[in-house]
Order: sequence, then structure tokens, then C-alpha cells
Amino acid sequence: MRLGGVLASLLFLSACTVQPVIPPGEPCVAEGFTVSDDFDGARRGDCQVMGIDKVYLYIRPENKPINDSPWFAFRIDPAEAATAEIVLRYEGGHHRYVPKVSYDGENWEAIDESSVVTERRGRIATISLPLNGEPVYLTAQELVLPSDYEQWTRRMAEQTSAEMFVLGESANGRPIRLLQTGSANSDVLFIIGRQHPPEVSGAFAFFAFAETLLGNSELAVRFRERFRIVAIPLLNPDGVVAGHWRYNTGGVDLNRDWGPFTQPETTLAGRLLETLEASGHQVRAFLDFHSTSRNVFYTQDENFPTDPPGFTNTWLENAAARLTEYEFDNSQNPVSDQANGKNFMYRRYGIPAVTYEVGDETDRALAQDAARVFAEELMQLMLEQSY
Ligand SMILES: [Zn+2]
Repeated sequence: MRLGGVLASLLFLSACTVQPVIPPGEPCVAEGFTVSDDFDGARRGDCQVMGIDKVYLYIRPENKPINDSPWFAFRIDPAEAATAEIVLRYEGGHHRYVPKVSYDGENWEAIDESSVVTERRGRIATISLPLNGEPVYLTAQELVLPSDYEQWTRRMAEQTSAEMFVLGESANGRPIRLLQTGSANSDVLFIIGRQHPPEVSGAFAFFAFAETLLGNSELAVRFRERFRIVAIPLLNPDGVVAGHWRYNTGGVDLNRDWGPFTQPETTLAGRLLETLEASGHQVRAFLDFHSTSRNVFYTQDENFPTDPPGFTNTWLENAAARLTEYEFDNSQNPVSDQANGKNFMYRRYGIPAVTYEVGDETDRALAQDAARVFAEELMQLMLEQSY
């Protein structure tokens, strides 16, 4: 901060000890810049102007208790300040994501970690963001919104053999889309994504994985001759638009609602499975894409054998042999009573059912390259089975 800025801040603070709180939805106007949350996926929370180029933002979850996935996303429109000092004050969570910056909402970069200082064990994070006069988005992760999914899904339907369907609507009336190919085949590979709104690195993997399944390689063509692919890229569009940390707008973690199916979004997935069963289809493998602190696959341990036996271990070993840079764990666990997609699919069908987790900050290109390898090895191994 310039000396003038320091003096101005001191004068400003001495004039009033408690700054007014600007609620979400209203532009927060400091002399140096304005912080807005008027776009899909935004989450800014209450704002207090603490100086000409300094604001406090109160980053709160939609519900408590909640997973520590503190999503934030807002836009800074510069006026005269050369640097914005943004103090994120987390409630119900801790600083987790390396903030991402974009000037166009399309291209994103992680900010230099040295420009973020955390205090109180991550309850407070102060970001010093240089401003160049252009409006800039500052977000926990890249914005990957329902509009992006729609574009991608339509492109897949136009450019590949996949057909797009609308399965139904979310609680707030947004379409839940399905991509499907090989509907004459009775054996099904079922993949799903974005049950949890902030989990964007998993979304990047999902796109690359699905594109490989739907691609023109000899392997993919052969796979689609043998298998039906069913893909739901975005199960929680309302949560994404609302900038939620975890839940849908019904206040439910969708990945704890498989079996109960109390929510419109999970109900659609449950009905899809019933329709597949009623028409004589057999789901043979299930993958659910997420993000967490590292690259890891959550799978069944040896006390919970799958049909085919040992399939997941072989798949991941085959992929690992080809992946030199992408490190990941195969976390084999007993099947618990938790009503997540993986457990539900295992209990219902006895199949390999996997939660595919990508690290929050895993390089996006690396995650996508790896996803292509995982997709190829999965197709190869499924083709080798005698279902
Ligand atoms: Zn998740």
C-alpha cells in the first residue's frame, strides 16, 4: 500500500469504528474498486469497506455443518486503486483453494501463492491483487457453469455418436442433461459428475474422460459397439449457480442421498437406473467424478468383491503403468452405510463402483491427460471381460 493509502486508511478508520455491512447481491463500493457478485456461481457474502483499497468479505456456507470446501467467487471492478486488498473471513471453513483469476471468465490462472497470507489457522486469508484497470474475477476455482456444460454437452451430441437427452429438472427448474450412446447394447458404463459444486478439477477430468469414450480411436469405436455409455455431466446445477460449498438448494448433500432419493436431482438418477433395469440393461461399472486434496480413487476393498473380481485394481494398475507424472492413490475401503453413489451402485449391482477424485490444485492439463489414459484402460479392460 502506498503511504498515501495508509494515511487515507487511518483517517477512514478513525472516522467510524464499525463499517457498514453490505449484504450479498449489492455492489460493495470502496473508493479504489467495487466488489460484485451479480453472476452465476458467485459467492461474496457480506462486505465491509475497510479502506480505499481494502475490504473484508465474510465467506459463509449455505448450511452448517458442512464440508470444508469454502467456495468464493466475485468480480472486482477497479476505480483508482492499483492493488486490491481482499480479506476473506471464513465462517464454517478454512482457506483451502489457491485463488484463481480471470479477465474474461474463460481463461483462468492461479494467483501467485505469495500474494495470499493466512492467519488464525486459515480462518482469514488476505489476498493482495494487482489491478490493471480491467474488471477481474477472483474465485476459489475456475467458473465451470451450467452454460459451459450445456455448450459442451451439445457439442458432444453434434460431433460424436452420443445423443443428448434432458433427464428432467433440478429443484430450480434447470435441465439435468444426459449423454448416451450405444443404446442397442445391454451392458452399461455409467459416469456422473459435479454432485458437489466447488469440485471443478474433477469436472475437467470428467470432460476429458468422456471425450475419450466418445472419440474416434479404434478402441473407443470398438467399445461403443459393445457397450452403452450413459453420462450425466452435471447433477447439481442449482448448487453451482448459487455458489454453494456442498449442497443442492434443498440443503442436501446429493452424494449422501443415493438410495433415499429424496431430492429432485438424485431422484432422476434413481429413475434412470430403474428404466435401464426395466429394459434389460446391466450396469457394469460406475464412476463418480469429484475433487479433494489429492488425486485418489475410492474403491472397494478385498472384503467387498466386485463382479468382475479385482477389476478396479487391475484397471488402476494398468493406467499407473502409463502415467509417469500423475500420482494417485487407490484407496480401498470397506463399503460403509454412507448413502453415496459409489456405495449405492456397489450394493445394488456388485459392480466396480469408484469415486474418481482429482486434487484441488492438480495441473488441469495433467489431470486431463491422465483422464484420457484412465478412460482408455477402462475401455480396454471392459472389452476383455466375458460379461
Ligand atoms: Zn465431492
